[in-house]
This record gives sequence, C-alpha cells and structure tokens, in this order.
Amino acid sequence: MKNKKILIIGGGVIGLGIGWQLAKSGAAVTIYERAQAGRAASWAAAGMLAPLAEAHIEEPELLKLGSQSLALYPQWVRELEAAAEMSIGYRVEGTLIIGLEPDDTHQLRHLYASQQDLGLDVTWLTGRAAREIEPALSPRVTAAIRCESDHQVDNRLMVKALQRAYQRCGGVLHENSAVESIHIENGIAAGVKTRDGEKQNGDVIVLSAGCESAQIQGLPDAIRPPVRPVKGQMLALQMEAGITVKNVIRTVRARYPMSVYLVPRTDGRLIVGATTEEMGFDTRLTAGGVFELLRGAWEAVPGVYELPLLETWTGLRPGSRDNAPILGETPIENLIYATGHYRNGILLTPITAYEVSKLILTGETSETIAPFRVDRFLA
Ligand SMILES: Cc1cc2nc3c(=O)[nH]c(=O)nc-3n(C[C@H](O)[C@H](O)[C@H](O)COP(=O)(O)OP(=O)(O)OC[C@H]3O[C@@H](n4cnc5c(N)ncnc54)[C@H](O)[C@@H]3O)c2cc1C
Repeated sequence: MKNKKILIIGGGVIGLGIGWQLAKSGAAVTIYERAQAGRAASWAAAGMLAPLAEAHIEEPELLKLGSQSLALYPQWVRELEAAAEMSIGYRVEGTLIIGLEPDDTHQLRHLYASQQDLGLDVTWLTGRAAREIEPALSPRVTAAIRCESDHQVDNRLMVKALQRAYQRCGGVLHENSAVESIHIENGIAAGVKTRDGEKQNGDVIVLSAGCESAQIQGLPDAIRPPVRPVKGQMLALQMEAGITVKNVIRTVRARYPMSVYLVPRTDGRLIVGATTEEMGFDTRLTAGGVFELLRGAWEAVPGVYELPLLETWTGLRPGSRDNAPILGETPIENLIYATGHYRNGILLTPITAYEVSKLILTGETSETIAPFRVDRFLA
C-alpha cells in the first residue's frame, strides 16, 4: 500500500492535511494546486472549532463528526507544531453566544433547549454574568450561552504549518498547476491532466478542490460531487487596550437578517464574520456586507467603533447539498472524495486527514466516515 502513487487535487487544509498524513507514512504523494496552497477558503476562514455553537439539531451526524474532530485537535496540534516547528495559535477559551434584546433571548432559550436535548456541555448566563467574563460586551446583552469546549485555531498559521510539515516528509507540491481533468479508464481512476497539458498517472486520486470540486472534467455527471461556492465576507480589526475579548463571541439576532461572530487572535487581531451568500463564484466585497459586519460587531462590543480596520476579504465555502462533507470512496475505483466541508472545514481537518489517509493506506472505510460517502446523493 505504501508504494502507491497518490495524486491530490487541491492544496487547502483538506488536501494538505491528507497529504501530510500519507507522506508521513512513507507514501509517494503529489498535490496539484491551481494557485497558491492554502490561499482559498482555508485562508479566508475564522478558524472556529465550534461544533456546539454551530450545532443544528437536524444535523446530528455532522455534530458527531465535528465533536470527534474537535477531540482530536490537541493531539493534532502537538504533532503539527512539532513537525512544522511553529505555533498554529490553538486557543481553548470557548464561545459566548449572546442576545441583545428580548426576542434574541427567546431564540437563545430555544437554542439552549436543543443543545441540552443533545446532551451538550453548555451553560446559561445572565447578561451580567456574561459581562463579568467579557467586560467589553455591550450593557444591552440580555443573556448568553457559554460553550466552553468550542475552541479556535489560527487557520492561516495552520495552512503554513501543514505545507511545511507535508514538504518536510517528502510530499511534492505543484503550485500554479490546475488539474483540468481526471482520467478514468474502464471505471478506474488512472491519473490527471493539468491545464498546461501534463499527464500524470496515479494509483489513487483524491479530489479535494474545495468549492471547485464539481468543475473538474472527466467525471461522469452522475457522480460529480454536489458542491457549490457559498460566499462569506469578513474583516479584521486591531484590538487595543480596554477593547479586547478573550472568548469567541457570537450574536443571535432574531429580528435582523444577520448574526455575526468576533474571533480574537493571539496577535491582537479581531476577526469579524461572516456573510452567507449564494452568489456563485463572485468574490466581491460589498458595502452592505461590510456594513452589516461592522454594525453587528459594534452592537455586541461597542468599543470596536474606535478600533483600526486592518483588512477586509471574502472566501468561498465549499457547500454540499446537505451541508455535510463528502468523504471516502466513490463508484469509480481509486477515486476518493474529500470535499464539501462547508462552514466546518477547519474543524473537520484532523478527522478528514486521519480517516481518509487510513482508507487509502488500508482500503477500509471506518464507520466514522461511512455516512458521508457520495452514495447518499446518488439515485
Ligand atoms: C468566510 C469563511 C469563514 C469560515 N470560517 C470557518 C470556521 O470558523 N471554522 C471552520 O471550521 N471552517 C470555516 N470555514 C470553512 C473552511 O474554510 C472550509 O470548509 C475549508 O477551508 C475547506 O478546505 P478545502 O481544502 O476543502 O478548500 P480550500 O481551502 O478552498 O482549498 C481548495 C484548493 O483547491 C484548489 N483548486 C481548485 N480547483 C483546482 C484544480 N482544478 N486543480 C488544482 N487545484 C484546484 C484551490 O485553489 C484551493 O487552494 C469558513 C469559510 C469561509 C469562506
């Protein structure tokens, strides 16, 4: 198995994470990356590791997968930081989900009840108790839910570390090298062709091209992964003395079109996100998007009004039809999918990397990822 030649399409956290695990075990791995590794959704993300705060009662399988991946994080961080000799900014302060008026409190109570039904580790706080934890919060905060076990990582540091760790154990990375098509022969994936005409044979092909995974040619339409881009606008502020937060803050806004989150980084940046827009591959920032982010952040933490605005950007989440990732074998032999991680790809990187690399090395799909195969979408 270790002598297999593995070709990975896409060098985001998912492709790099799988590539690193495989290269570490001695496999011959090549990643083809259309532009620069780790500069797409994996760069744009907020880095929240938040299965509880993101939990939706109607998505129990996804909640389970997210919680399993979160549990792997401490070991993942230790291994990755040692291999890359750099920090990836892992923080364990937790998340406060806050409401700002009575309607929000009703919505928070509903969320809290759902979380309790699921047996999640959450605590109800009054507005005052929330402000004791985070004094910069608005005096308008009516109530909050504390999710102590939701953590965060600096995703931009994580992609750098993954690239370094991958290349240090012999992984090959071709940047500015877009794969045009996957070559399939008699129902077996046999290689890839790049846009500049290079053909490469491989024993296993992994498709992890994020929101562009459905664009690769050569796949029969029936098994094309149903992944689409979902735009998110983001911005970063510079925290200053007196206007700092330690926890991730998320708002619940019953009467507004948009809630926001504020994610404090160890380097003093405060990431504010994010819009959720079905705009195809459009990556333009809009006045309305930035306005809503700033308004939401200011309502939660009024002091942000004074903070320097450092950066604005957009990213495209790879959204699948049911919001869950698409992982594992496909009806085409030797073709593996690892895509569609939507709003949880940073959280789901360790479990995806460990499970997909194990599948490639042993040929066995674990029960953990079996529910996420592309089969679920096939008629
Ligand atoms: C605004 C925003 C906020 C987010 N916040 C969070 C968060 O807080 N927590 C969390 O867990 N997740 C978050 N996410 C989601 C997370 O970023 C993604 O799920 C994750 O990055 C997906 O990783 P990926 O490697 O599949 O995709 P990407 O990082 O997009 O990587 C795919 C790569 O494939 C390359 N590629 C595409 N086509 C080809 C081709 N034909 N040939 C070769 N290469 C190709 C691309 O250039 C790209 O580098 C957020 C996303 C966004 C946009």
